[in-house]
Amino acid sequence: MASKFQAPRGTFDILPEQARARRRLERIAAEVFARAGYEPIATPVFEDTDLFERGVGKSTDIVRKEMFTFEDKGGRSLTLRPEGTASVCRAYLEHGMQKLAQPVKLHYLGPFFRHERPQAGRYRQFHQLGAECIGSDSPLADAEVIMLLADLLGELGVPGVELRLASLGSFEARRAYLEDLKAHLHAHEGELSKDVRERIDLNPLRAFDSDDEGTRGVMASAPMIVERLEGEDAEHFAEVRALLDASGIAYVIDPTLVRGLDYYTRTIFSFVCDRLGAQSEIGGGGRYDGLIEQLGGAPTPAVGFAAGIERILLALDEEVAGEGRDAFVAVAVADPGQRQRAMALVAELRHAGVSVELDLAGRSFKSQLKHANRIGTRRVLILEADGSAQLRDMDSGEQRAVDPGNLVGEMTGGEA
Ligand code: AMP
Repeated sequence: MASKFQAPRGTFDILPEQARARRRLERIAAEVFARAGYEPIATPVFEDTDLFERGVGKSTDIVRKEMFTFEDKGGRSLTLRPEGTASVCRAYLEHGMQKLAQPVKLHYLGPFFRHERPQAGRYRQFHQLGAECIGSDSPLADAEVIMLLADLLGELGVPGVELRLASLGSFEARRAYLEDLKAHLHAHEGELSKDVRERIDLNPLRAFDSDDEGTRGVMASAPMIVERLEGEDAEHFAEVRALLDASGIAYVIDPTLVRGLDYYTRTIFSFVCDRLGAQSEIGGGGRYDGLIEQLGGAPTPAVGFAAGIERILLALDEEVAGEGRDAFVAVAVADPGQRQRAMALVAELRHAGVSVELDLAGRSFKSQLKHANRIGTRRVLILEADGSAQLRDMDSGEQRAVDPGNLVGEMTGGEA
């Protein structure tokens, strides 16, 4: 009977079959990062609330509406992390990583929490993997970070992916642009949706994200920052594009691209997938040259991305099966008297690196074979009562006698 308990709304269990597909993803991601010299980092699941208020920005939806914030028993305000960049930057400063050779290249993976309205591809506990390259203002760093995510999605085989690219300019250029954008929005207040109107001064960029028809009309004639980039900002963006072109990474310039976090400057990008519905973004990121300073460090340029693991898996949609159990050998005993011999053999095989399962349910010999078949084991090692052994191929049903004194050698293809 089902219990009355269920996983909380917007959260989900990762069952073994899904865990297998994740394991493949995590393995490929670890390889892509390692090949580019990005090292793993893990930060706590909760942090001081202040870190996200400062880092992500008080005007963002994340901080205003979506954080799981609670008081601990000492009266401190803590928050389940809604994103990873602020924590990685906190760790960079806390552990004096500015003294290391720059840039410091890190990658992470783990659960994140946002109190959003749950739907396909949007959860309250979800998982992200991400990379941060801290301490370089070179367009090479922007291009490398974008390339990492492009490579990862390519190696995983995610279909229908498009890279969208824009630049917000430096902090000063962005500020000047935001004043012009606000003026444009105020001049058309009557045509805007209520939500956008109420946030003109708080977060005018969000208007680009609106589905509201009136707002869309106003945004069609809004000033676009990519078209107004000047001096070093324009050069930086041109160089990022040239580097992507040289590396064969296709992209489209999207002047309406906005990201839901306040810390971005210059390059921003987003990978979208046409296989996903409304939540079409698989991952994205950008440059955040002001964030480390905002958190109390010296001015330190940086760039990074985060991608949603559930969205990647949804886009793959079982197209690529997870890692199964066909590499497994089952040890079956034809006679219950062989149990101790079987257990000792299982230990020996596992220590030799062979994946092996032993029946733990007291099944009859026939049922052991049936069970091995059901779980996808391709080979079964059968221990007979007289001390001999047989190896059965479950696909062909063929069985041959094997040397009982050299079973590890038989299974590993070498001498015992
Ligand atoms: P962000 O940290 O907002 O830039 O998001 C980066 C990526 O994380 C997105 O492109 C999504 O793939 C994923 N993501 C963000 N929020 C959620 C959520 N509530 N549920 C599932 N995935 C999410």
